[in-house]
Amino acid sequence: MHKEKDCIFCKIITKELSCYKIYEDENLIVILDINPYSIGHTLIIPKEHFNWLWEIGSKEYYELMGKTKYFANILQKVFKTEWVEMVVAGIGIQHTHIHLLPRQKNDGLGELPTKPIIPKPNDSEMQKIAENIRKAL
Ligand SMILES: [Zn+2]
Repeated sequence: MHKEKDCIFCKIITKELSCYKIYEDENLIVILDINPYSIGHTLIIPKEHFNWLWEIGSKEYYELMGKTKYFANILQKVFKTEWVEMVVAGIGIQHTHIHLLPRQKNDGLGELPTKPIIPKPNDSEMQKIAENIRKAL
């Protein structure tokens, strides 16, 4: 499986870097974003290093989207909201990944949040969020 030496996500996948892990299987890892744009901001990351989502083979893409829907439904339950945004951006970390952002109608973050929330959840809050999501899987 293709990895890039200086890629933060590849290092998380090979466990050189720690993360708030929610789920892992042979093809993907799901973690909390350490600079969340909303509470529960989750990243779905294919284990293979692709720069762009559109490089992934069709079959793998559909599997990834199926898993993404599954996790979006989980976040809906955990954060008691219908509103979960899916974002694929692309140049922040060039290892393709999907952002899922649970939103609340009164969270004040606008249509599409563009910066991390302040204050950032601390380590124990992040662990608790990850645990709550894991328990709902
Ligand atoms: Zn990578």
